[in-house]
Amino acid sequence: MAEQPDIDHLLDQLTLVEQVSLLAGTDFWHTAAVERLGIPAMRVTDGPTGARGTKFHGGPRSVNVPCSTSLAATWDPDLVTEVGHLLGREVRAKGARIHLAPTVNLHRTPVGGRNFECMSEDPFLTARIALGYVAGVQAEGVGSCIKHFVGNDTEFERNSIDSRIDERTLRELYLVPFEAAVKEGGVASIMTSYNRINGPFAADSAELVNGVLRDEWGFDGLVMSDWFGLHSTVEGVVAGLDLEMPGPTNYRGQALVDAVERGDVPRDAVRAAARNVLRAVARWGGWDDGAPGPETTVDEPADRALVRRAAAAGTVLVRNEGGALPLATGGLRRVAVIGPNAVDAQIMGGGSAQVNPVHVSNPVDALRARLDGVDVVAARGCLTHKRLPPLPLGLCADARMSYFASPDDLDRGGAEPGLVEAARTTHFMWERSPVGGRQFGARFTATFTPDVSGRWTFALTSVNPGRFLVDGEVVLDNADAPLGGSFFGMGRSEVTAEVELAAGQPVEIEALLYRKPTEQSMSGMHLGAFPPQPGDLMADAVDAAASADVSVVVVGTNADWESEGWDRDDLDLPGRQDELVRRVAEVSARTVVVVNAGSPVAMPWLDAVDAVLVVWFPGQEFGDALADVLLGAAEPEGRLPVTFPRRMEDTPAFEHHPGRNGVAQYVERRLVGYRWYDTVGREPLLPFGFGLGYAPTAVDEAVAVDEGHVQVRVRNDGDRDSTTVVQVYAHQLERDGLPPDEPEQRLVGFAKVAVPAGTTVTALVHLDPRAYQGWSVEHHDWVDGAGAYELRVGTSSRHIAARLRVRG
Ligand code: BGC
Repeated sequence: MAEQPDIDHLLDQLTLVEQVSLLAGTDFWHTAAVERLGIPAMRVTDGPTGARGTKFHGGPRSVNVPCSTSLAATWDPDLVTEVGHLLGREVRAKGARIHLAPTVNLHRTPVGGRNFECMSEDPFLTARIALGYVAGVQAEGVGSCIKHFVGNDTEFERNSIDSRIDERTLRELYLVPFEAAVKEGGVASIMTSYNRINGPFAADSAELVNGVLRDEWGFDGLVMSDWFGLHSTVEGVVAGLDLEMPGPTNYRGQALVDAVERGDVPRDAVRAAARNVLRAVARWGGWDDGAPGPETTVDEPADRALVRRAAAAGTVLVRNEGGALPLATGGLRRVAVIGPNAVDAQIMGGGSAQVNPVHVSNPVDALRARLDGVDVVAARGCLTHKRLPPLPLGLCADARMSYFASPDDLDRGGAEPGLVEAARTTHFMWERSPVGGRQFGARFTATFTPDVSGRWTFALTSVNPGRFLVDGEVVLDNADAPLGGSFFGMGRSEVTAEVELAAGQPVEIEALLYRKPTEQSMSGMHLGAFPPQPGDLMADAVDAAASADVSVVVVGTNADWESEGWDRDDLDLPGRQDELVRRVAEVSARTVVVVNAGSPVAMPWLDAVDAVLVVWFPGQEFGDALADVLLGAAEPEGRLPVTFPRRMEDTPAFEHHPGRNGVAQYVERRLVGYRWYDTVGREPLLPFGFGLGYAPTAVDEAVAVDEGHVQVRVRNDGDRDSTTVVQVYAHQLERDGLPPDEPEQRLVGFAKVAVPAGTTVTALVHLDPRAYQGWSVEHHDWVDGAGAYELRVGTSSRHIAARLRVRG
């Protein structure tokens, strides 16, 4: 390793203009280089479920690991550290040194669009899992950029909403994972959130960035804005926001140089921010390499095996009547694998967390491969897309994209394109104009030959106004379509039209996008197509179920429903999936439901089916991991990191979500997740921490060794090795005078315990050092709670096996 640069010496040599140049990206993924002084650019990449590299679409592939709710469902920070190592290696394979992950906002409401990217409703569990994640990534010489600091718990009006969170709630809940990552995890970087927080934008919050993060917690790493989340020249840099992302700059550059020269920004603030950027580049950025390296794909069998093991470990068995699982394969003749997500495995949610996976293991294919000699029949059952699937390039000939310097060129006969490319996708995203300048026109052309006759549906979604033509006739124009619902919330909602086509008869299709100079730099266009549907999907699925020994019904959401950019409207499974489950259960000898969603869904059919597995968005090895669990090769080790509510009306933020008049009031205060259900007395559908194994394990006995440790004995009476997650909740006994948002109990410790068949195992649970503390708004500090506490030891927030009195 070359000598570390002398940062102060470099800062002395940098001119003000050069220092300021370091405070914004040069493009979407790179910091600025200063060649004169040998300062290299540094590449950053998303996160959290892989390492995408510098292209949203069509870039090198990345291993896709389970989503964060799945990682949290393992309750296994050590396993998550292994996944972190894999991610760190992936980031390096993309020539990047900062990973824009993990995401540690809390599941304040079950419908948050990015919940799948976040871990849990509980700050302690989130912090422990995040620490495991960061430890693995950073051990590979890659810096983690934990996000989004703070209060980005909804996608509703996400670029402007003011999250109003009282001081105590902020400290005891939403800041906890960040604090742990800074103080215990030595996290490299923090990304501020899009939202306002109690007034100012998070990126401008001097109170939180310089105040809490740096002065109080001693953070000496890099603070960057979320993409286009900085809105100021003066406030942000003064608040301690080092790096504006992405670039080129909107608010810094000459504007910041002028502000310094006017005296609006102290020179020291610029120097301090430049120092933080340089330190990050020196520590993580591959200073010796000179420039970020090439982007490559790594696909190692050991990595696939780890992703598969992690996906199985995050799988939660929430119902298993009569030991329906694991499936006894002896005598099995026919298995029906049913459901939209059985056919199209949903391995990840939508938005910036998406990567191009190395491969996708589908449930149907995996079960076919594993169930040798068994007739595995597949049936989709119903449709669930929110936006139409992409126009299939396989049915297109001569698909091309032509780019023009001006949008007006599209309607001007004879204008020459500046660039013509073969189209390799029908989903386009542009970080800037492909032909330079601040505007462009894009024209997609192809000869489309339908493979079935009937009424085809075509769809257009785009950030800027667009049109879609069939044989020269405009069938879609989205100039008036409302904004939101696509492209991270920046795009227009989808418009669709039906066109009668004949199989084998080619038509010319054309799509146009008009990006004016006044519009934001990021743009995109999605072309969708959906063939006429023959037959009755539901009836076919029910028939398949009726003739099968077992029906495995894979239901859930997908990246259209759970995505960055928008929240879900409700907990319901999209489309007719509830009906599908009910109808299959009526006719099937046995029904196993697999819930493939990143966050809770309603399960009105729960009591009517034999078994239910929650697999989240389990990453690229979905099918094989599911087969491992269904067939008993792996234990469903997961436990719920979030409460599954019975109905939306029961959820903590129901009355105040998503917000009104630009403000999200966190009125439920500290009563998020199980704290709410347990305190106000609402029955959840499935409680926090819950999950069954395949063996009958039970907490036998618990003793408080001292105030910081509980020793627990766990018994396994079965004939299968198993694991269980022992959980310790703290309940303050003297309740007089406690505020109304004082939680009935709080998770303060857990341990995942392997319990071999027929044995008893003793585990030691280390408790949160703050188990008996709360944040005092009077002292602006942590203070001990009064009187005695009860430690509740169990296997979910509602399955308490032992109560131990401590502190009096
Ligand atoms: C997201 C961030 C992400 C960034 C870069 C933003 O839209 O909120 O989480 O890291 O884009 O893709």
